[in-house]
Amino acid sequence: MGTEHHIIARDALGNRSKRSGNLQCPHCKAVAEVRSSEMVTPTHRIIYYDCTNTFCGHTWRASLSYEYGLVPSAIPDPDVNLPLRIVPREQVLDALRERDPNQPDFFDQDVSDAA
Ligand SMILES: [Zn+2]
Repeated sequence: MGTEHHIIARDALGNRSKRSGNLQCPHCKAVAEVRSSEMVTPTHRIIYYDCTNTFCGHTWRASLSYEYGLVPSAIPDPDVNLPLRIVPREQVLDALRERDPNQPDFFDQDVSDAA
């Protein structure tokens, strides 16, 4: 399978994992931080990133688009159009499996290889 799916894991108490939405700088591969973001629509955001490597200093704009829902909301907003998709059981179990902390984060993967 060419595409990896990651699901934000929660521990037994329901706390989110410490993994965040930080990206890797495309030039020096250091961690980048979100400087600011703005909502375009409820399912699309524009995000501005700063590289944390002082010797690099790259900044860039990225976008985040929601693709589909996995479980319907109990309080759905009628203005939000986010289709639901059924995910195969094996795919969910694989994504929930404990991950190696040395593996890249959610946004670290090179999406150009995913096709
Ligand atoms: Zn950098």
